[in-house]
Formats: sequence, C-alpha cells, structure tokens
Amino acid sequence: MAVATLVKKQDMSEAEWDTRVNLAALYRILAKFRMTDFIYTHLSARIPGEEGTFLINRYGDLFDRVRASNLVKMDFDGNVIGEGDFNEAGFTIHSGVLMARPDVNAVIHVHTRASVAVAAQQRGLLPISQQAMLAMPHLSYHDYEGVALDLNERETLARDLGDKSACILRNHGLLTFTSTIPECWRLTYQLETACQIQIDAMAGGAPLIELPSSISDEMYERYKARPVAEHGQREWRAVLEMLEGEDYAT
Ligand SMILES: [Zn+2]
Repeated sequence: MAVATLVKKQDMSEAEWDTRVNLAALYRILAKFRMTDFIYTHLSARIPGEEGTFLINRYGDLFDRVRASNLVKMDFDGNVIGEGDFNEAGFTIHSGVLMARPDVNAVIHVHTRASVAVAAQQRGLLPISQQAMLAMPHLSYHDYEGVALDLNERETLARDLGDKSACILRNHGLLTFTSTIPECWRLTYQLETACQIQIDAMAGGAPLIELPSSISDEMYERYKARPVAEHGQREWRAVLEMLEGEDYAT
C-alpha cells in the first residue's frame, strides 16, 4: 500500500478532527464486533461546517488500524482533498447517501454473513424478534445492480432510501445512515443482531412466529418521542470504553 502522509490535528478545524476521532472509533468498534469484510466495506461521516465534504477509510487499511489521521477526506465529485486511496464503490454509495440526505451525517456499510444472508432472502427481514421489530420501521430495500462503480446508482439508491435510516442492499449487505455516529452504530448493531437471529431461527427448522406490525409501530412512536441527539448516546459511551488504551484518536 502507498504510504500517505498522515494529516495533523493543527492543520484542520476542531469539527473535522472530532469527526475523524469518532469515525475512527466507529471503525475500531465494527472490528471488535466482527462486522468487517477484510478491507472491503466502508463507513463515512460528513465534515460539519463544510460544503460537500466527507471522511472515509483509506482503501487497504484494516478496520482495527484506522486512525483519525489516516482517514481520507473527499468531496462529492470524487476528488481527494489531501491524499489517500479510496474504494470506488464506497465513494458511489456514501456520496450518494450524503448528497440525497442533508439530514444524514454518518453512514455505515457492512457485508456481514448474516446480513448478506437475509439480503438474499426474498422477504428480507422478518418480524420475528424484538431486534427486528425495533429496526423494521427504519428499513428500506435496494435491488442489486452489480459492484457500485456506476455513479448512476446514486440516483436509484436515493430513490429507494426515501426518508428511512437503513437499507437492506439485496444480495449485498446493510446500509445505515443517520444524523449522528452513535445512532448509526446503535441501529447497525440492532439490524445485524436481527439478521443473525433470523438466520439462526430459520436454521432451527421449526415454524416461526411472526409478530404484527402494530407492535413495531408502537416501538417506533416511542423512539420518535425521544430527542434525536439522545439516540445511541448510552450505547456509544459503552462501546468507547472498549477502546480505552487504543490509538484511534491519533
Ligand atoms: Zn458493499
């Protein structure tokens, strides 16, 4: 891998550095929860106070090696601001979501075994667990179009996401997109767990009990009643403790 010069905290806004630290933490957390697919897949965050810029991993870095200073800064035209390689499909997906949804500041994309398995099932996520019921009101679906190298997919993706916060990319994986990094982590964890439960429950072979949508509707009403800024904060504090002593914030 080409060795790029690491960026320095003193050369950027406080908002950019803070975003870098939190996004680097998010990469480390996904690695700890084994939600990685080697060097593939990507997580991104919009840089506050700037027009049309975001941070993404340098292509080739393992998630547990991502640091605030080795994330790559890009714009929506695919220009790297500074230096660093990026995954082209990652650019299409993340710029597509961030361009379509000004309310979104964080995006997680994973290819976990369980989520790809559910994404390959015609009915998608089933209402068979508490985790699924919590996640289902946030969920949309997007059909597979091949590896996302064609920028036209930004349009079909934007259409399919609508105003939701997560998407099952059929035959491909999960996409979660919310206003904050903590909320994005919380929803990804919930969805991934729901997918694992579904695959396990189906493997068990016994008929499944499906829950009525009135239950998930009620859960969603309770979720919406809480201030957006609070979503995922408790979970985020807890996972950050798992990173104590690590160098992600450097
Ligand atoms: Zn992917």
